[in-house]
Amino acid sequence: MTGTRDLCHPEAVRVAASHQAEARQIAAELAAIARTGMVLPGSITERRTRCGHRNCACHADPPRLHGPYWQWTRKVAARTVCRWLSADQRHDYQAWIDNDRRLRYLLARLEALGTAALEADPRWQRRPQTAPDTGQAST
Ligand SMILES: [Zn+2]
Repeated sequence: MTGTRDLCHPEAVRVAASHQAEARQIAAELAAIARTGMVLPGSITERRTRCGHRNCACHADPPRLHGPYWQWTRKVAARTVCRWLSADQRHDYQAWIDNDRRLRYLLARLEALGTAALEADPRWQRRPQTAPDTGQAST
């Protein structure tokens, strides 16, 4: 069996040097964000509203709506959950929301690197083999 590679039990998949370099860069940024502990899911949106008083300026033409108010929105168990924030809370927590977005982006980059490595796997080039045994007898 000298000179042949066992394609069913290959050595560890090699990771390209450029891939490793980018992964290290991503890991450093992920760690830096995680160390701050300042990560918040969802989004913060500005809301302006009308009140129930018919002669209020918010019902005028053109209307002068109340606000701005700030609303933190996120998903909890597939349901949208909202909470009102003060203006200074909105100011402080927007950076936390931005950090969460950055973490998700960095994770997606890592997944893309992994996907590219799998797609570049030389074993995709080997000859097609017979289908795996399904346990059903053929007639
Ligand atoms: Zn009003």
